[in-house]
Formats: sequence, structure tokens, C-alpha cells
Amino acid sequence: METVETTIQTLPLMEHFYTIQGEGFHQGKAAYFIRLGGCDVGCVWCDVKESWDAEKHPKTKIGKLARFVEDTPAQLAVITGGEPLLYNLDQLTALLQSKNIATHIETSGAYDLSGKWDWICVSPKKFKSCKSEVLVKADELKVIVYNKSDFDFAEMHAGIVSDTCKLYLQPEWSQEKKMLPLIVEYVKQHPQWEISLQLHKYINVP
Ligand code: SF4
Repeated sequence: METVETTIQTLPLMEHFYTIQGEGFHQGKAAYFIRLGGCDVGCVWCDVKESWDAEKHPKTKIGKLARFVEDTPAQLAVITGGEPLLYNLDQLTALLQSKNIATHIETSGAYDLSGKWDWICVSPKKFKSCKSEVLVKADELKVIVYNKSDFDFAEMHAGIVSDTCKLYLQPEWSQEKKMLPLIVEYVKQHPQWEISLQLHKYINVP
């Protein structure tokens, strides 16, 4: 007799929590965050370095991930990392959307896009180049400003995204005092950009 093998996908889960989206276009909205382990982008200022080694994070069935979200009133799930596009996210996003949970991703854009998304936030990094194929699908381009050269870096990527893509400049947390005044001036001169602040750090939520 023929057997049908069904593979249930697992993904390395670093942490998951229900909170307020602190950044970008959806700032201020309740959102369930699923942070996947694994990243080889290597940002020097990364504030989640413990995410880098995927082996350190338990492989978790996607059904369990969806149940975490379903157990809350969350209407949207943010899949982040690490770099979530290290994995194929077709099954996870299909499952979440089948439960009427909107799917948002935060990615560096360094890997091919998989999954079906209601919102794609691409945050390119200097340490591993961002794919144009991902950038053109972005709903939101969020560039972290660590030093002055990041303004040119931001414009370079803004030249690739679609006309409707929202553009954000966000100060890197440790450089905020230094870079925020420069970002304010930049946005005043280039009003197609907006400022994104890490609201969650101000209101003390994860
Ligand atoms: S892409 Fe994100 S998780 Fe990866 S090193 Fe950079 S900031 Fe850290």
C-alpha cells in the first residue's frame, strides 16, 4: 500500500510575545511577534545577537506558532528574527492567513522572498546586500541610521522600491542622541521620508 508522507514544518523559535508594534507604518498596533532564530547578516550593532545561531533555538511546529497567536486577540502577526527569510515561510503564512491573522514580515531582504504577506517591511543592512526582487515588493523601507553615510544608503534603496512604498529612517538605538537631530533635518529637507522611533522602548514593552 502506498503511504503518503506529510511533512509538518518546524522553524527555530527564539521568542514569541504579544505586544505593541513599536516601529514603522504599523506603530502603535497590537501585534504578536514571532522571532525566528538564525541570521548571518552580521550587523555590528545588532541588538538580538543571541538570535544568530539557529541551533540554539527549539524547532517548533508551525501549528504551534499559529496557536500562540490564536490564543490572544491579536489580529496581526509579525514574523521577525534573526533573518526570517532563511526559511521558506509559505506554510506558516498560509496557516496564519487561514485563521484571519494578517501576516507581516521584517526582513533584511538578503534572501529570496517566500510566504504570502499582508505587509512587507524591508530593512536593508550594509553587511549583506539586499535583493532587488525583495525590495520591489516592499510596502515599507526602514533604514537604520547609525552614521551619516546611512542617508546615502537609504536613498540608494529608495530608488529601487515601488512608488507606494513608505520610507522610514530610524535612528540606531545607541546612536539616537547623535543621529536623531540629523534625521529630523533630513526629513524636513526630504519629506518623502518619515521618522520611525522604537516606540516599544519608550513605553517599556518588549
Ligand atoms: S539582520 Fe537583524 S538579526 Fe541579523 S544581524 Fe542585522 S540586526 Fe541582527
